[in-house]
Amino acid sequence: MMPSETQVSIDDAMRYIDEALVLRPIDSVIIHHTWRPKAAEYRGLSTIRAVRQYHMNVRGWSDNGYHIMIGPPGDVFLCRPLRRVGAHCKGHNAHSVGVAYVADFDTEDPAGYAGLEVGQRIVAALLRRFGLGIEAVHFHREYAPKSCPGRKMSLDAYRAAVARMHEHEGYIKVVMLPDGEGVDCRARLEHGVTRADLRPLAEALGYEVVEQIKKQNKVYLRRVR
Ligand SMILES: [Zn+2]
Repeated sequence: MMPSETQVSIDDAMRYIDEALVLRPIDSVIIHHTWRPKAAEYRGLSTIRAVRQYHMNVRGWSDNGYHIMIGPPGDVFLCRPLRRVGAHCKGHNAHSVGVAYVADFDTEDPAGYAGLEVGQRIVAALLRRFGLGIEAVHFHREYAPKSCPGRKMSLDAYRAAVARMHEHEGYIKVVMLPDGEGVDCRARLEHGVTRADLRPLAEALGYEVVEQIKKQNKVYLRRVR
């Protein structure tokens, strides 16, 4: 298949991370910024394509060096397939996944970067998929005389943010109603979205759930008198 890049929803990215066939052992996730282009120069898919073309035509690589790229608004791009060794961190490519933010975090502030958290959710999903702990998250600069992913990025803070998502994903929560009643409806964070079982939640709110056989794509709530 020709090298390319695909923009996907975060849910699709999570599914890809969970399901992609990856035969090489993965022991780390390495975080980058592109430096150039910086976030202010981001133009969506065409920016990601330009990065790949630079990696292929100028650097002579077979594909984009990164596996996953994140755009400033939180856009997610699947680049080099996870099953293939990347080209993003000399001496550490064989067993790692490379995730890159389109940004120059030497000068651009990560606090104003909406996609930062999306990237952290992606990293948390990679840790889950490959059974890794938070210490498997690394910055490129640990391995090379560079500032990557930028002087304004703190490894400790980044790991702490990933750890929060890592820990909270999948745990069953109790939904608290305004009157203080707690409802056990198997609420849990999945891929950054809180999902819950409808029936116990609806009933606690004073509705009953009515399934109509003929209307397969609808479920009705009816207020209980
Ligand atoms: Zn880097």
